[in-house]
Amino acid sequence: MKKLFTFITLFALCATTYAQEFEKYFTDATLRLDYIFSGNVQQQAIAVDEICKIPRWYGKRRRLTELPMEGNGQVTVRHHRTQEVIYRNSFSTLFQEWLSYDEAKTKTRAFENVFLVPFPKDTVDVTIDLRNNRREVVTTLTHMVVPNDILIRSIGNKKVTPYETLQQAADTTKCIHIAFVAEGYTEAEMQTYLNDCNTAMEALFAHEPFKSMRSRFNIVAVKSPSAESGTSEPAKGDWRNTALHSNFDTFYSGRYLTTLHLKDLHNWLAGTPYEHIIVLVNTDSYGGGGILNSYNLSMTHHAAFKPVVVHEFGHSFAGLADEYAYGYEQIPMYPHDIEPWEKNITTMVDFDSKWAKMMPKKATIPTPEPADLKDKKSPNRKNWKIGAYEPAGYSLHGVYRAYPDCRMRTNNNPEFCPVCKQALIDVIDFYTK
Ligand SMILES: [Zn+2]
Repeated sequence: MKKLFTFITLFALCATTYAQEFEKYFTDATLRLDYIFSGNVQQQAIAVDEICKIPRWYGKRRRLTELPMEGNGQVTVRHHRTQEVIYRNSFSTLFQEWLSYDEAKTKTRAFENVFLVPFPKDTVDVTIDLRNNRREVVTTLTHMVVPNDILIRSIGNKKVTPYETLQQAADTTKCIHIAFVAEGYTEAEMQTYLNDCNTAMEALFAHEPFKSMRSRFNIVAVKSPSAESGTSEPAKGDWRNTALHSNFDTFYSGRYLTTLHLKDLHNWLAGTPYEHIIVLVNTDSYGGGGILNSYNLSMTHHAAFKPVVVHEFGHSFAGLADEYAYGYEQIPMYPHDIEPWEKNITTMVDFDSKWAKMMPKKATIPTPEPADLKDKKSPNRKNWKIGAYEPAGYSLHGVYRAYPDCRMRTNNNPEFCPVCKQALIDVIDFYTK
């Protein structure tokens, strides 16, 4: 009885959702929400930092309350008077990743986070919630936003950072907006930056499904200049004054290159057509990172630039998980008794929600890796089969990937595996169909 009731409620909800018009609740502008997430392993808190209004809205205009992936956190916008949910999005954060490190057991830290939602016509309640790796909501904040509040800062109207359009989408009213952002390039190095943007863009479109769906992407290169060239390398005592204050050694992990300055990032972007962000860092040291619906960041002058920028885009755009493990058992990022929400890994707790239907009959679990996988130069990929391979998701056992190799596993493999490809197609369709 209860199940039937839930079904009817859900059906009614969906029907209402589809009837919603963007114009009914929102104007063609962006509400930028800046937060400080703070805390440690024991407790976390969310506080509103600043609220801004930016001209134009470059995110989704339909399926406003649907999510293509669950994420490690969600932003939910409700109409204040009716409490109807009118917009949702999901995300991941460096703060939540930091909570999994030992440092978070003894220190309390604060992290900036910035989220974009369409600018509401009426008063709304915005809820931010953060989930742990058991997919439970552990921290939440709800605050009211009154659209004519005089303290909503208006930005992005003048002195917009110069940008160039690298590719215009076939239909700019129904496309995915990507902005490249320059980090560690001086004014004199902007041509190098533009060349690097083109290299990254062509690397992305050399991969399926991006190749076949290329016309659905609108891509700009935002020319944010840095006072100094390069990026900071704390392990070498080398700190530089750059546009986004990026650095290696994030969380004391050598090749982990990130920026924690989310507000600076969005200040450079204000007024440009952007939703998904790819930061290019002018360095030849290996590194990068990608955080769902936050940003993707990659070095540009290392031999692995092309595979890395595409791999990190898999994280930031579609929330794909890493399909590798290190040579030793990590602190489990994915508890083996919980099905992770990421589409390209499974713990077999709910395999039907993953690629069970794509599995060949009589496949053994774990599926043995093909003998030619180790032969990095000429593996016979045509003979590879979908299965449930270990390791994946930083776990030597108990977390599985779908294919012998994938862009989300190694830099050597030239493409995404069939399961990642399908996940990417689903996300692209979600935003553009
Ligand atoms: Zn994959």
